[in-house]
Amino acid sequence: MKRVGILALQGDFEAHGKALARAGAGAVFVRTAGDLEGLDGLIIPGGESTTMLKLLREEKLMDPLAEFGRRRPVFGTCAGAILLAREVSNPVQDSLALMDIAVERNAYGRQLESHVSKVQPDEEFARRAGAGEMEAVFIRAPIIRRVGESVRVLARSNGDPVLVEQGPYLVATFHPELTVDSRVHRLFLSKLSDGNGARR
Ligand code: GLN
Repeated sequence: MKRVGILALQGDFEAHGKALARAGAGAVFVRTAGDLEGLDGLIIPGGESTTMLKLLREEKLMDPLAEFGRRRPVFGTCAGAILLAREVSNPVQDSLALMDIAVERNAYGRQLESHVSKVQPDEEFARRAGAGEMEAVFIRAPIIRRVGESVRVLARSNGDPVLVEQGPYLVATFHPELTVDSRVHRLFLSKLSDGNGARR
């Protein structure tokens, strides 16, 4: 069975543990650099990216995570997406910069701060993970404002990319761990075994 780490300093890491169990993988909560050893991939959960950054620095985890991400697949949801993005605005902040995307934090207006939308993933997603629309839970979510040339958009909501991948990396601005649909987690798990891990 694949062993997937979930960064567990802050945020909704427990829900990802349950989602991984539903998708058929073992979860390991990661709190120190040593915890990364022997893992097949890593999930960076939602939460508050500013707080996560502060804790990552305190635990001296920035470099170990970036280094892990150069060797293995990483999946970020919401705050995790912010930590993976090369550029972050509103305000500008530091990140692991593993993916060629630009995100704007807290980018939905007050009224839409937290909302549930139906999104229709594209054919590529359907082929690899299963067809049909998906319920997407957004909580003070960022909006992906730019995607690099080698980034593939797998789903959009109101025209904005909400699920994107680049080689071994996957990002959702919504929270697939909060619904029973395990397709997004299964898609991530497929990256652990398809030899995509070392490619950028
Ligand atoms: N608003 C948070 C941030 O900017 C992200 C919210 C989430 O992860 N649900 O970091």
